[in-house]
Amino acid sequence: MYKSFQFSVFSFSVLETPMPNYDYEASDPARSCPTCLTGFERYQSLDAPRLTACPDCGAPIRKRLSLPAIGRSQASLDQRAKNAGFSKLKKISAGEYEKQY
Ligand SMILES: [Zn+2]
Repeated sequence: MYKSFQFSVFSFSVLETPMPNYDYEASDPARSCPTCLTGFERYQSLDAPRLTACPDCGAPIRKRLSLPAIGRSQASLDQRAKNAGFSKLKKISAGEYEKQY
């Protein structure tokens, strides 16, 4: 049901797969909602289209620079998951995942 992840070197289950994590923020703070004003993270497969509008308010957003998830160590991922109290990824469309708290 999940298409195979192209970085097959990672053998974790899909929930632990280091899905690339993209940070977005409002490109025009005057037209933002609380979601995009403070920025939000979105897990997307590498070939998924980048978001250009806030999913909540539709305001234009831009991608914030961040380290690619695939460059983070497993210890760091584990720590991040622990800090988040175990994050679940919900599949919201083909190749696109939303972080669930
Ligand atoms: Zn917004």
